[in-house]
Amino acid sequence: MTLSSSTSLTSASPDSGPSSMHSAHATRPAVDPSLLAYRELVRGPFWQRIPAYRDISEEQFLDHTWQAKHSITHPTKLLAVVRDLVPASFIEDAEKGFGRAPMSLRVSPYLLSLIDWNNPIDDPLRIQFIPLASRLTADHPKLDLDSLHEQADAPVAGLTHRYPDKALFLALDTCPVYCRFCTRSYAVGVDTEDVEKISLKVSNDRWARAYEYIASRPELEDIVISGGDAYQLRAQQIEEIGESLLRIPNVRRMRFATKGPAVMPQKILTDHAWTDALTRVVEKGRKAHKEVVLHTHFNHPNEITGITEDAMHKLMERGILVRNQSVLQRGVNDSPETMTTLIKRMGHINVHAYYVYVHDLVKGVEDLRTSVDTAIFIEKSVRGCTAGFNTPMFVVDAPGGGGKRDVHSYEYYDRETGISVYQAPSVKPGQFFLYFDPLHQLSTAVQRRWADPAEHDVMVQAALAKARSHPR
Ligand code: SF4
Repeated sequence: MTLSSSTSLTSASPDSGPSSMHSAHATRPAVDPSLLAYRELVRGPFWQRIPAYRDISEEQFLDHTWQAKHSITHPTKLLAVVRDLVPASFIEDAEKGFGRAPMSLRVSPYLLSLIDWNNPIDDPLRIQFIPLASRLTADHPKLDLDSLHEQADAPVAGLTHRYPDKALFLALDTCPVYCRFCTRSYAVGVDTEDVEKISLKVSNDRWARAYEYIASRPELEDIVISGGDAYQLRAQQIEEIGESLLRIPNVRRMRFATKGPAVMPQKILTDHAWTDALTRVVEKGRKAHKEVVLHTHFNHPNEITGITEDAMHKLMERGILVRNQSVLQRGVNDSPETMTTLIKRMGHINVHAYYVYVHDLVKGVEDLRTSVDTAIFIEKSVRGCTAGFNTPMFVVDAPGGGGKRDVHSYEYYDRETGISVYQAPSVKPGQFFLYFDPLHQLSTAVQRRWADPAEHDVMVQAALAKARSHPR
């Protein structure tokens, strides 16, 4: 075995005295304790800071049925809960913001309690769930409601078969929370003033057609069960889906996708039927030598509390692996410091950082998007902060159905016009996929070009010509 350089450096030198022979020779300076702050998780009755929850006991707050029942689904109710905590101008701003939002509203008491109501404007959780009209910016002209073209790649309603060996099964269209930035705002949640949703409700017929299609395609090995959100499936439905898929010989891997641990970790601790059902599917999968895991969605370290840690410990004790997929968002996690803390905190509670998505081209949330350049900068900054298997890959989910591409793998990137061009040889060979940086990160001169429809094709064709000039 070859000694690594750090191992050889810690060996005592030939002229070391007796004391140095017995003390470790530090190769790095003592750690700044602030760098270990990611291990400090909020515990105690933090929810009692909200007047409406002042009398809520720990037992009530941990009860998932209480969380679900008290989740707020109407802007007027939400604003009534926080009215005494914020200035009137905030309420007015939020009312106007909700009027223009593509997503309906649902927030849990847990989530509301974690927002810093002394500074809600800049709070990373407020930014993700409560729109403020004053912060909204104009959509890039190339935005689309279903930018990933999931419906175009769906042989059965709610089953997207894009990658050779993987399918996305949208089992239902509701979630424990509704995120402003949702890429599936074309289907998830109830209709809003701006968007009439397509329906992907729980339906035995639709599910049966999905299983039939999966069984008919021997190349399909990997199924993502999402929605909507697997948290909203009843225990019996978790088992029904899990067992139906485990019975299909070609299915080797499946993941239940849920944002639940980030917005209502209580469910894992107190919805025993649901957690036990998931555990049984995982165990049956293990016996059949098939992998069943949970995929979740933390975006900011503040979403992780002592309750989350207890929930993740419970899953770990049951042998359930949890992976995370974050969305890079402006003002939420678009700094190396925040992303590093998030990754380290997730590692601390045994959640594997898996992907960070550059924000999809979703309408109505342009204020949240960042550029490909920002993603590359943050990736460079976080790589090396922990083990490689706990370091996320930063990806662009190529608009138009190219699938996830490593953010660095563009064929061409024009930082001035904000156009990046990707290819996906194993998914859709020969095609080019375009991502567009948000207008607010471009120069005024280029913003003027994007305001002129005649210029769009000029900029796009120039980027494509550059991309084509590097044939492989
Ligand atoms: S939980 Fe997931 S599917 Fe549901 S609204 Fe949020 S991002 Fe969309």
